[in-house]
Amino acid sequence: MTGGRGLRNCGNKCFLNATIQCLGAIHEVNQAHLLTNKSTTTQDKLMTCIRELQKKGTAYTPSPLIQQIPHLICYRKGDPADAHELLIALINDISEPILQIFQGQMASTVQCTHCNKTTTTTVNTQDISLHINADSSTSLVEKLLNFFQPETLEGENAYWCDTCHKSYQATKTLSCTHIPTILIIHLRKLILGEKIQTHMPFDTVLDMKPYLAPGQASPQTMELIGIISHQGTKEQGHYVTITKRGNDWIPHNDAIISQATLHNYIKHRPTS
Ligand SMILES: [Zn+2]
Repeated sequence: MTGGRGLRNCGNKCFLNATIQCLGAIHEVNQAHLLTNKSTTTQDKLMTCIRELQKKGTAYTPSPLIQQIPHLICYRKGDPADAHELLIALINDISEPILQIFQGQMASTVQCTHCNKTTTTTVNTQDISLHINADSSTSLVEKLLNFFQPETLEGENAYWCDTCHKSYQATKTLSCTHIPTILIIHLRKLILGEKIQTHMPFDTVLDMKPYLAPGQASPQTMELIGIISHQGTKEQGHYVTITKRGNDWIPHNDAIISQATLHNYIKHRPTS
């Protein structure tokens, strides 16, 4: 049983449709919107589209949202539209209670190799953005471990140490100080104008413990609830999404929604 309906693609809007469909499948977004009296016009239009998706019938045209955010969905001719850019822009244009669902925090700790003094700064984040290499098919967990590996700052990147009053080699380590309710992991597959087609193995459960800052309580396990993916090449691409509903996985392809096992869905899409 799939329920709900798809979204009509009114001209190169698959990236918008996939984004709405993925956001619409997040229970916490629906709940937060119902429980808050704070909203923005973009949020109202987005939630209108999401509510329409839950109805039965023919595909819905997400015109209210398209008319509200023309600046977010126009892109230069020839450049591929970017669902990730749109997703981040959208969640920054909605009210605080919903934004909080996606808001994480990371600490960057730099240690001077000369005096061993450490300096920590924290930044709010809305995603973890990972580079995908064309020649490596390491798993998501391996890529995350690599992302949180200490990095050596040296040469031109050497660290100016306020204690030593001199530039020294230093190590920089990132760690999570707050894991958001909904974690967005961005896989950068469009790099320098090229689409990376490498397959990246991943599990539907992600243990965040290895990436937590020291002293952070309650290790969290995240469960996959949706994937927005770009199929095809840079020149000829198409965005689709798959979301979890109960124990089922629902692929959304603009107006078409169906049902699949995640395994079969991924297996039959070598470009995912
Ligand atoms: Zn120092």
